[in-house]
Amino acid sequence: MTSEKETAPILKYYVSGNWKESNSKDLHPVFNPSTGAILAQVPYASREEVNEAVESSQKSFPNWSTMPILERVKYLFKMKQVFEDKLEELASLNSENHGKTILESRGDLRRAIDNIDSAIAVAYTLSKGETLDQIASGIDESMVKEPLGVFAIICPFNFPLMIPFWFIPYAIVLGNTLVVKPSEITPFPMDGAMKIIASEVKLPPGVLNIVHGGRETVESLISNKDVKGVAFVGSTPVAKQVYKLAGEHGKRALVNGGAKNSIVVMPDADLGSAIPAIVSSFFGNAGQRCLAGSNLVALGKVHDDLLSKFTSAAKKMKIGHAFEEDVDMGPVVSKSAKERISSNIEKGVVEGAKLIIDGRSLRIDKYPDGFYLGPTIFDEVTPDMSISRNEIFGPVASTIQTNSLDEAIELINRGTEFGNMASIFTTSGRNAREFRLRVNAGNIGINIGVASPAANFPFGGRKDSFYGTLHAQIDTVDFFTDKKITIARW
Ligand code: NAD
Repeated sequence: MTSEKETAPILKYYVSGNWKESNSKDLHPVFNPSTGAILAQVPYASREEVNEAVESSQKSFPNWSTMPILERVKYLFKMKQVFEDKLEELASLNSENHGKTILESRGDLRRAIDNIDSAIAVAYTLSKGETLDQIASGIDESMVKEPLGVFAIICPFNFPLMIPFWFIPYAIVLGNTLVVKPSEITPFPMDGAMKIIASEVKLPPGVLNIVHGGRETVESLISNKDVKGVAFVGSTPVAKQVYKLAGEHGKRALVNGGAKNSIVVMPDADLGSAIPAIVSSFFGNAGQRCLAGSNLVALGKVHDDLLSKFTSAAKKMKIGHAFEEDVDMGPVVSKSAKERISSNIEKGVVEGAKLIIDGRSLRIDKYPDGFYLGPTIFDEVTPDMSISRNEIFGPVASTIQTNSLDEAIELINRGTEFGNMASIFTTSGRNAREFRLRVNAGNIGINIGVASPAANFPFGGRKDSFYGTLHAQIDTVDFFTDKKITIARW
């Protein structure tokens, strides 16, 4: 009898404007987390296939980089339009493979489109250089921003469409060419997006290539001599390895790592508006956002009221199949993610935290093989417990009680190695200002549960949440270009 895996289609890679069958025998299943069914198989590209993609990218660079930018930008106008037209189709692919609700998938795609818009604006604005006449008598100086060549883009599983587009539109409008490696767990949405780009946007062959794979594919990409730089988004242990490898090979690197975000609730907070934002921060995308709340820091007497309202809102959430419109939270992305998150919950219990709601007990009868976990809330978490320090990346909230804003800020700055996001809920401008000035994180929320920068702002982090200098989104204008100075006397 043939198994589900054997009959699942094998994803192709896209190189030189063609879809190609991989020779790789290293095949891995791609799941629909809502049902547990196998959607496809993803082949991990061999070094030869990676080199083929880089070569195709390298070959297209001379023509692409010298094409007038106002011609290149026309491809982005087209890309924006087809993404708008195919939004529902792409959102469905996204939910099918990731498990996030269809509403969340639409948001994922909206952010991808926002970045196309922002890169279109770059073509008319930030792509320009500078000049200064008479830097000395009879001598003028000018600076232009030049593209560098082939870049590798390495993506995580959790925003299969948004994150590749933190980079793709900027890199190509500025004249670079790309090899993109989607997550091996959620390759489906980018595969679908690439099919649409290939058939409707019709970029010149080699400008945008897709290869699939894992660690070895990434290492082959970074070590290829023709790759000028790598933009990576993923977990901190892998981020560290990628940053090190890029450094060893003398490559530019923009490396986003993991997160452990705190949400501080002051006694003066307006809980009526705070609770929905907090619930969405901890449990939206099943807690698999790099900007998700993970530690709920309750200040003094707000603790009891906050915890009871937060718990009751979490208990009302409907968990289920990503395509059901009234579902608030879908499954987590994989069986192994479910096991990892569950074992973190067990660790919290063993460490002595008080389990208020246990998401492990959730069963969805209609989809017994889906990767479901309900919202989990701990109370009486202390800063020394692993569940307050380490990234769990699932729908788990650790409530920590503190007595002062100073103590809460100290907890954020010293309690974890991460510095991606921190939020405060307060009605006091003074508290908010203190928080903004003193918290060491890349993204600060004030009465906001998910402080996600708009596309025309940089998206970065601090401490072990980011390695490099220039961040994602608009900051990539400087990442994807090099500045050339001319000093002229006539
Ligand atoms: P991951 O680190 O497992 O994988 C990320 C990418 O790296 C994938 O494409 C994977 O194939 C590749 N990879 C895996 N192991 C590798 C290795 N040893 N060497 C080289 N490449 C390797 O991350 P994930 O589980 O896909 O995504 C979730 C993580 O991403 C979380 O930690 C989350 O916080 C983080 N994340 C961060 C941001 C941010 O902006 N800081 C945004 C989204 C997600």
